[in-house]
Amino acid sequence: LLSSLFTVSAIAQQQPAAPKSARLTPRISVINAGFNGTITVFQSTAGPIVVDCADPSSAPAVQALIRAIDQRTPTGVILTHYHSDHVGAAATLAAGSTVFAHETCFASFKKQNPAGYESLSKVARLAPQTADDGKLDMGEDSIRLIHPTHAHSSGDTVVVFEKEKVIAAGDLFFNGVPPYIDVADGANTQLWADAIDRIAQQYPGFKVVPGHGPVTDTEGWKQFASYLRALRQGVAEAIKAGQTREQAQASVNLEQFTSIKDYGNMLTRKANIGWVYDELTKK
Ligand SMILES: [Zn+2]
Repeated sequence: LLSSLFTVSAIAQQQPAAPKSARLTPRISVINAGFNGTITVFQSTAGPIVVDCADPSSAPAVQALIRAIDQRTPTGVILTHYHSDHVGAAATLAAGSTVFAHETCFASFKKQNPAGYESLSKVARLAPQTADDGKLDMGEDSIRLIHPTHAHSSGDTVVVFEKEKVIAAGDLFFNGVPPYIDVADGANTQLWADAIDRIAQQYPGFKVVPGHGPVTDTEGWKQFASYLRALRQGVAEAIKAGQTREQAQASVNLEQFTSIKDYGNMLTRKANIGWVYDELTKK
């Protein structure tokens, strides 16, 4: 668990880019803080809804960008999962709001970062979600929250803005880089890829905001699911052939996915192979 925390904060610290905001649809804007996180802002009739909160170091810059989009205090903040680069700035950005996340996400957040969880619960109302498929009614708008049980973590939420034709995928999507896979928290690459294909099939042509990387559409997201499937299949074959973790890292070939580029020491094919090896051999 310590190593997983270290990994996530190492990812967050790797690229301290100045956050930038861009309008995606008339009512949805995306704030990109590089590898410190992606934040989606939806201007619902009931007030702004913010998806994810970046890491703590980005809090002032991200808050200024949210206020420039909409001066009202966010009505709701949705956390896609508990990693520090998604919840770190929550105590600042979600002050005075209601925070929606799956109950498993809140549990992992509390366990991994008790102080951060405590500060958030002092300034915001926490609204744990228990259903695998839920809806939030915000004024005249309805937002769909999908919880794919085990994917990138065990408490992920995918947010669908049906009228706007936009999906905020959280870390079910790393666009352009190999993903972080939180095996210690119960990540499951099979259910992850299945969830992507299922949601993409239900919402063809929707724009997809990744947890990391540039905005694309459901076709781009499905390519990422193909990468996860090839990764899992390659590692399963290596295990079947009796290979060790290191041998699998040397033998499994994922070079056909040319649009996915290794990034730093953490977000690499080699790391992915190791994590999936751990996932498939976990007792
Ligand atoms: Zn994550």
